[in-house]
Amino acid sequence: MPSPIGHTLAGLAVLAARDAPEHASRARAAVVVGAAVAADLDLLLRFVDGRNHHQAESHSVGAALLAALLVWAGARLAGAARPARLAMTASLAWLSHLALDYLNRDTHPPIGIMAFWPWSYEYFKFPWPLFLDIGRTLEWATVYNNALAAAWEVAVLLPLLLLVRRLRARRRG
Ligand SMILES: [Zn+2]
Repeated sequence: MPSPIGHTLAGLAVLAARDAPEHASRARAAVVVGAAVAADLDLLLRFVDGRNHHQAESHSVGAALLAALLVWAGARLAGAARPARLAMTASLAWLSHLALDYLNRDTHPPIGIMAFWPWSYEYFKFPWPLFLDIGRTLEWATVYNNALAAAWEVAVLLPLLLLVRRLRARRRG
């Protein structure tokens, strides 16, 4: 899995592509970035039943649709502006998480993501990884590897974010 830094940058790129700067707010950014990162909360389920749920149901198109529904309902209840658009943006941010995980090197079985749950329980993995795997221990070699992986994510995704923002600004002008 890529790091939360990579997922945050991808979420911000989705937000920049979808929302004009005049509609930007910290609340909308928090929702969209939260949606881009939230799929990895499945790591915490291990503490509930002792089983590995990572990259399963939460890493799917079905979960992205559920996220859209939740965000839409929450935004309506909160009286937020344009709740349907925010829900769609959050869903796309959730899908950005899937895209990054699909493109990353995976060394923790089951390999890949359960991309099409609930229609399929099959795992999918891109054969030529673009991103490095993030380790889950505090050993020095793992910390060093994680720092390298996060730096590579920034090197790839920050220029993408800046490009999307520039294109968005040009489209307005
Ligand atoms: Zn993930």
